[in-house]
Amino acid sequence: MLYQRSSALFTEAQKYIPGGVNSPVRAFKSVGGVPVFIKSAKGAYLTDADDRKYIDYINSWGPAILGHTHPQVLEDIKMQAEKGFSFGTPTEIETEIAKFIIENVPNVDQIRMVSSGTEACMSAIRVARGFTGRDKIIKFEGCYHGHSDSFLIKAGSGAATFGNPNSPGVTAGTAKDTLLARYNDADQVADLFRLNEGEIAAVIVEPVAGNMGCVLPENDFLQKLRKLCDENGAVLIFDEVMTGFRLAFGGAQEAYGVKADLVTYGKVIGGGLPVGAFAGRQEIMDCLAPKGAVYQAGTLSGNPLAMRAGLTTLQLIKNDASFYERINKNTEMLDFEIGKILNEKGISHCINRKGSMMSLFFHITSVSNFDEAAKANHSLFNKFFHQLLESGIYLPPSGYETWFISDAIKSEEIDRTLAAIRKFEYS
Ligand SMILES: *Cc1c(COP(=O)(O)O)cnc(C)c1O
Repeated sequence: MLYQRSSALFTEAQKYIPGGVNSPVRAFKSVGGVPVFIKSAKGAYLTDADDRKYIDYINSWGPAILGHTHPQVLEDIKMQAEKGFSFGTPTEIETEIAKFIIENVPNVDQIRMVSSGTEACMSAIRVARGFTGRDKIIKFEGCYHGHSDSFLIKAGSGAATFGNPNSPGVTAGTAKDTLLARYNDADQVADLFRLNEGEIAAVIVEPVAGNMGCVLPENDFLQKLRKLCDENGAVLIFDEVMTGFRLAFGGAQEAYGVKADLVTYGKVIGGGLPVGAFAGRQEIMDCLAPKGAVYQAGTLSGNPLAMRAGLTTLQLIKNDASFYERINKNTEMLDFEIGKILNEKGISHCINRKGSMMSLFFHITSVSNFDEAAKANHSLFNKFFHQLLESGIYLPPSGYETWFISDAIKSEEIDRTLAAIRKFEYS
C-alpha cells in the first residue's frame, strides 16, 4: 500500500480534528482517497510520511514561490527567532516591509498587516464600507475571498466542491448585502449598480481568478470594473492574495495596468508564514483605527518572524531581474507540452494560464466563468490527479484549484511531469 502511514495518520487525525484537517481542501474530498501527509519539503519536492517524494505544484497554495525552505529565508527566520518571537509592540521590520512594498507596488500609499488572506479581505470591505458609508458589496461567482461571512456566497476554492457554496451559519442579514455577478460579465455589474444606486460600497474581484481553477479576465473586464466603480463612487478592491507578487511584483495591477483603490495580499507576502495585508489609497487607509474610526486589530499582526520570512522572500524576488520571466517561461512550457500530449491522446481540454498560475479543464474548450468551470469533466481530473500522485507529481487535489509553479521547478522536474502525463490512462 502506497500511502500506508498517511492512511494511519488520517484515521488518527479524524478522531481529534473535524474531518482530520485544518482546512477542508486538504482532505481530498473532491478527488477521493486518502490525503497524503507531508513531513518535510525542500526546493521543488515534498516528502510524505511514507518517504515518497513528489514534485510540488501546490507550493503551500502559493506562498512557496521560491520553492520550499529556501536557504536564505531559513537563515533569516532563524536569526530573527533568536531575538524573540512576538512582542505586541511596534517593531522596525514592520516599517521596513511596508516601505519596501509601497515603493515597489503601484498605487498603494499605506499598508496594514494581518495574519491571513481571510482577515485581509474581511478588513478591506469593512474599511470600504466605512469610507463610503454604504453597506452592499458586489462579488463574483466562483471567486474566493476567504471564509468570512460576507464572502461565503457562491464562493470558490474548497467551498466550490462541497456541493453547496453557500455555507450554513451565514445569516440572511449578512447575505443580503452581498450581490453576485458572473465573472467576466461587466454588463451584469452595471445592472447591479443601476438597481442599487448609491448603495454599493465596493466591488471585490480576483483580478485573475484562481479559486474556480485559473480563469482570466477577458474583454477589458478589469478596466470596465474600474470605470463602473468610478462612475458610481464605489471602491474597487483587487483581491491579490493569490496574484500579488506572483503575476508581477506589483501583481495584477501591474500586469494589467489597472488601478485598484484597495488591494489585499496573502500567500507570497508571508513567504510561508501566516501573513495577509491590505493596502490602498491614503484617504481610504486614513479611515482605519487608531487614526480613523474603522476598527481593525490583531495580536500577532506584523509578527516579527512572519515579517522576516515575508521581507526576505520579497527581496529575493525583487533583486532577481529575470525571476518572473523564468517562472513564467517554465509555466508556459508546461502548458504547451501538456497540451501537445493531451492532443495526441485525443483528450479535449482547456488550459488557462497567466504567469505562473495555470489549470487544466477536461472536455471543455474554454472556461471564463464558474458555470463553465463546473461543466468541465471533474471526474476525469480526479483520475488524472491520482495517477500523477502515484507517479510522484503533486497537483492540487481538485479541478477547481490553480497550480502554482515555483522557481525551484526546473526543466528536470518539467520533464518528469510530462513523462508521467504521457502514461496517463484515461479510459
Ligand atoms: C487564499 C485566498 C484567500 C484566503 O486567504 P487565507 O490566507 O486562506 O485566509 C483570499 N483570497 C484569495 C484570492 C485567495 O486565493
